[in-house]
Amino acid sequence: YAPNSAAARDIANVLHPYTNLRKHEEKGPLIITKGQGVHVWDDQGNRYIEGMAGLWCASLGWNEEELIEAAVKQMRELPYYHGFTHKSSMPSIDLAEKLKSIAPADFSKVFFVNSGSEANDTQVKLVRYYNNAVGRPEKKKIIGRIKGYHGVTVAAASLTGIPLNHKSFDLPIEGVRHTDCPHHYRYAEPGESEEEFSTRLAKNLEELIIKEGPETVAAFIAEPVMGAGGVIVPPEGYFEKIQAVLTKYDVWMIADEVITGFMRTGNMWGSQTFGIRPNTLSCAKQLSSAYLPIAAVMVDDPIYQAIADESKSIGAFGHGYTYSGHPVSAAVALRTLQLYEERNTLAHVQAIYPAFQKRLKALADHPLVGEARGVGLVGAVELVADKPSKREFAATDGVAAQCVEFAQAHGVILRAIGAGAVTICPPLMIEEGQIHEIFDALEKALDDTDGWVNKKGLR
Ligand code: PLP
Repeated sequence: YAPNSAAARDIANVLHPYTNLRKHEEKGPLIITKGQGVHVWDDQGNRYIEGMAGLWCASLGWNEEELIEAAVKQMRELPYYHGFTHKSSMPSIDLAEKLKSIAPADFSKVFFVNSGSEANDTQVKLVRYYNNAVGRPEKKKIIGRIKGYHGVTVAAASLTGIPLNHKSFDLPIEGVRHTDCPHHYRYAEPGESEEEFSTRLAKNLEELIIKEGPETVAAFIAEPVMGAGGVIVPPEGYFEKIQAVLTKYDVWMIADEVITGFMRTGNMWGSQTFGIRPNTLSCAKQLSSAYLPIAAVMVDDPIYQAIADESKSIGAFGHGYTYSGHPVSAAVALRTLQLYEERNTLAHVQAIYPAFQKRLKALADHPLVGEARGVGLVGAVELVADKPSKREFAATDGVAAQCVEFAQAHGVILRAIGAGAVTICPPLMIEEGQIHEIFDALEKALDDTDGWVNKKGLR
């Protein structure tokens, strides 16, 4: 890169999250400078469809004037206030009320944070606080799942079940366990139906709880659809069977709806799509269409009442962030939820996701694709070295990453996860024609990747 170019300055100055840093030093960044609708442009003037809505979040696309106006209006009125020690501000009151009114369960209170990771960190602290409050200090363990993703703060990364988020960080912390990943294609026994697989996984969860001691296991955390684990849609009957085990051992269900919240799976919540009955819920991302950082934890009334009593007896609920319920973020989130209603985004998603799923599932016929999976407006294709045996490519082959590069050359931004998954998660306001553009580009990218794999002899 030319000295002093934006790319050179990026390499010289920015420590990138979630990136192979040595590779970044060689390859440099894709610098996005502008966005409009579902499109973004790089600093070279190339236009892309953002087929991942950024990081599964920019639901209303890249130039929603209503959200900009909501932010500016709130900035002028009250750019900042907080919620500590009985203080409050109107946007957080309005937003909490609105969120409760659309929630998938009868929640009592909403706690605001700035990110999905902070939401799940808060969940860990609530589990501890609550069980101390009700005199069960030994009941604190939380069970996550292999390939589950819950963020990167110390506690949230511990709940995450992906080795990359633990390795070299000395994680997970004490008191976290992980149970099976519900990926039928990868982990079912030969001939095992989805229903049988779900039964086996629920039985394994029960055995884990018994082994740990039910008096020590407090909570189970799950994404309705695993996102960063590679878009893993739960098999038939899964959550119903899991919920039964949780009820039996008095283990609370934490729904991590950071990706699935706000219509991604074709209903307002993933919990509704999959019959989950959460005691607490984390949401973020599409809550504000990603225009400003804001996330929330919702809790049911028994949990709230115990926490409130404990806060009285020890002096305060000693948890909260400077920017919890930030008025500008809250105003933008509230406007986002209003726009979803005013524009009937749910009906739009329900009208277009069949086309998305049809094109997605058709990719299963491609010689490189072992599985094409998804629900609503989210999906993934899993690239395999050999279809009958489902043999994976080596992680070092970088096949999924190469496919994403080819797609980018065809004008669509997608994401590679692990050795083989290519994920798709467009803005919710995408039009059907643009869905076809995404899949046309992905089909070309798969053909390009097939040629590349053959040339490199990776099979
Ligand atoms: N939970 C889920 C399901 C996520 O997908 C993510 C981020 O992708 C997080 C939590 C963490 O959110 P954040 O990156 O805002 O901290």
